[in-house]
Amino acid sequence: AQTPVKVTVTGAAGQIGYALLFRIASGQLLGADVPVTLSLLEIPQAVKAAEGTAMELDDCAFPLLRGIEVTDDPNTAFNGVNVALLVGARPRSKGMERGDLLQANGGIFGPQGKAINDNAADDVRVLVVGNPANTNALIAQQNAPDVPAERFTAMTRLDHNRALSQLAAKLQVPVAEIKKMTIWGNHSATQYPDLFHAEVGGKVAAELVDETWLRDTFIPTVAKRGAAIIEARGASSAASAANAAIDHVFDWVNGTDWTSAAIPSDGSYGVPEGLISSFPVASRGGRWEIVQGLEIDAFSREKIDATVAELEEERSAVRELGLI
Ligand code: NDP
Repeated sequence: AQTPVKVTVTGAAGQIGYALLFRIASGQLLGADVPVTLSLLEIPQAVKAAEGTAMELDDCAFPLLRGIEVTDDPNTAFNGVNVALLVGARPRSKGMERGDLLQANGGIFGPQGKAINDNAADDVRVLVVGNPANTNALIAQQNAPDVPAERFTAMTRLDHNRALSQLAAKLQVPVAEIKKMTIWGNHSATQYPDLFHAEVGGKVAAELVDETWLRDTFIPTVAKRGAAIIEARGASSAASAANAAIDHVFDWVNGTDWTSAAIPSDGSYGVPEGLISSFPVASRGGRWEIVQGLEIDAFSREKIDATVAELEEERSAVRELGLI
């Protein structure tokens, strides 16, 4: 029988965790024939709630779910982990400065990176969802020097999926007809959803929409969708974030020709080496590769440079704080 894959979810008692765990256990993260064990990491005051979720997972009698553990100890949670989904993070509270936010998250992602370094399986793959996701991923990575750097990634797949659905609605086409969508840069308001390489029925998407819509509606709608959902729902997007995390890991493991993911830059497209920035990526043999050879026009160049500048500022800030 196949050895179960160990999947660890941090912030397991949170909203995204609740939307994520049942789908992992049902086989949607890795494939319908891959058994899993789940490790739920929480802070001490949320362990009881996570235990409640574990009881519900038991009650689903998922055939692929071979074990559940609930813990507040990162060394236990990441012991032998194959897929780590880092969801729990310190949210920005009112009046909090960026430095305080980064400091608080350094206190979470630094120790978690070290615990991954010391305990994870050799094939560990890490996806950071908790914000600021790109820089939290960088902090974890820099605290895990024995793990190949490329195994630390951050999620821009929700932005990618939002871009697909906005464009599909505008052009009145099924989402599956859209190819080569790309999100560049930071998972933040500066992100750049790129229609100059996206294709619909073999035509460049940017040529099928008017420039004003692209610039003044599409880009801000995708970038600010999270806030619009909070406004409408009275709570942040959780199911769609969980869905995107599933998509990211599934494609990483099982392969894809083109999607968006924040991965460590090798210097491609002028993005400074080492920044964990979103690119157009393919996955082959379980490894992300940046899609090469795209021409970047002046409009896109400016947008990419702006979001990458923000990532550089965040990296400088966490360096100054001694977090990396
Ligand atoms: P959620 O489960 O809703 O969100 C968790 C994180 O995901 C937040 O940082 C959030 O960022 C981020 N996120 C990324 N993309 C999205 C998106 N598209 N929509 C919404 N969120 C997104 O938060 P909860 O407060 O419900 O739960 C967090 C849990 O994490 C709590 O149970 C807490 O106890 C736990 N926690 C666990 C830690 C650990 O395991 N060591 C450490 C810290 C917290 P944003 O805030 O910007 O929305």
